[in-house]
Amino acid sequence: MPLPIDSRKKPTDVKVFVTTGEGVAIAWSDGHASRYTFPYLRDECPCATCRDEREKKAQDKPAAANPLPMFKPRVTAKSATSVGNYAIQIQFSDGHSTGIYSFDALRELCPCEACAKEFRHAAKETTA
Ligand SMILES: [Zn+2]
Ligand SMILES: [Zn+2]
Repeated sequence: MPLPIDSRKKPTDVKVFVTTGEGVAIAWSDGHASRYTFPYLRDECPCATCRDEREKKAQDKPAAANPLPMFKPRVTAKSATSVGNYAIQIQFSDGHSTGIYSFDALRELCPCEACAKEFRHAAKETTA
């Protein structure tokens, strides 16, 4: 895996708040800081199983519009490990742990508005 050359996708500081359950905080080379909650990261899990699930969900939109969504307990993390120097792997409280979050993908997943515009503009237009 080549090292990211894009400074926007190079972390200078990575903190995973497992005990407090606050989520993940990353500071990037370009000065930007990102915060992610564990439920958010769980929803965006990049593993093949979850990607399949999300695709299926996107296909049957009517079911997703259920006015009475099932109660889901808030997902936290049991532990987190770094994978080489390019990714982190999170063991979630629901037992799921196959997702490897590369910093590249994490920057694109940054929930702030600026990053949504910068990295997910195209994706947003297709779902609107
Ligand atoms: Zn997954
Ligand atoms: Zn951001």
